[in-house]
Amino acid sequence: MEPMISVAQDQGRLTDRFDPRDAGRLAVLDTIRGSEGIARIDIAEATGVSPATVTSITADMLAAGLIEEILPEEKTAGSRRGRPRVLLKLRGAAHRIAGVKVTQKSVTVLVIDFEGHEIASREDPLATPRMTGQQLAATVAAAVDRTCADAGLTRHDLSAVGIGLAGQIDATRNHVYWSSSLSSRNVDLGPALAEVFPCPAFIDNDANLVAKAEHIFGMGRALTDFLVVTVEHGVGLGMMIGGKLYRGARGCGAEFGHTKVQAHGALCQCGQRGCLEAYVGDYALLREAHMSAADADHQDVTDLFAAARNGDPIATEVIDRAGNMFAMGLANLVNIFDPQLIILAGTEVAQRPMFEPWVIDKMKRLVIDVDVPLPDIKVNQWGNLMWAKGAAAYAMEQVTILTLRELGQNVA
Ligand SMILES: [Zn+2]
Repeated sequence: MEPMISVAQDQGRLTDRFDPRDAGRLAVLDTIRGSEGIARIDIAEATGVSPATVTSITADMLAAGLIEEILPEEKTAGSRRGRPRVLLKLRGAAHRIAGVKVTQKSVTVLVIDFEGHEIASREDPLATPRMTGQQLAATVAAAVDRTCADAGLTRHDLSAVGIGLAGQIDATRNHVYWSSSLSSRNVDLGPALAEVFPCPAFIDNDANLVAKAEHIFGMGRALTDFLVVTVEHGVGLGMMIGGKLYRGARGCGAEFGHTKVQAHGALCQCGQRGCLEAYVGDYALLREAHMSAADADHQDVTDLFAAARNGDPIATEVIDRAGNMFAMGLANLVNIFDPQLIILAGTEVAQRPMFEPWVIDKMKRLVIDVDVPLPDIKVNQWGNLMWAKGAAAYAMEQVTILTLRELGQNVA
């Protein structure tokens, strides 16, 4: 197996804040990542970094094994003659990264290379939805091991691990204020993760991570201002503003699910009343259906969605109310942020009535009337690997920053 670039474990603890001197290197690498192969002169044009600096930066990256040279395809007849320009692309083998998503019912792991190509993935059921920090770290490590083993790897072959959890998380210090996956509040997950992983491990709110993945790999690639709204057990929001994830001063903003939509309303899992997710989250839909009909026998939301499609009056009423609440919430987001795009994401996206056109139409009627088109609303189609992909994208970004920083120190 080709050697990887090593990243010291104790370096894992930074997020979007990094030395501005690294910005030129990151811009060059991001431009290479966004291409199928790009010449140095085109990198200079795209980034505004001078051609001489691009040559020097890419020489360092080539020497470090982050990127590699490829020969362009044969020029077709009629095109410009002369020596073909060498193109640069990311070197997939530079890093292997695991992304992990922990839900109430399962642990999903995706292992990718530095180019973002999938190496292995799997989803395992979870016996206990709420755990201590140590139990969670051990559970994640075991799932990562099983996934790595499918590809003949171990956790020692990874450069970084990214983990997405529902809840309020300060990503800058791997601190969980609250998560539906943890049995207590205010858990410093960093030390427990450092015990099980020999590489840096990063945690963040799962909706933030989906926004990160959309920005690096998906529909948000060319955009600077877009929102990702996730609906599953709870309701989450990832905010990409000015090309960066917005996290808030305490690292726990963007709690769209806990914006209040009803005074003295339904009890939320956060302990307060009238939160949006207390009407729209999966747990809320099932609770409402069972409260309205004691004999209702919906095992999960897909049963409830099917009942609504078959005309069951109580299921229909529950879905209608949730759809109306959700439309109101989305309209509030548009009125506040005026994003280029809103991406709707979650489990069972194909069946979820909340993502149907009638909800979007309702939302449009609640947005303040301006004589320009409304932002696009699109539904993420990545399926259940989406969350792990987001976690992997985040870890990849962090490992890129760490590697470039090391590169900067070596050449300084
Ligand atoms: Zn709440």
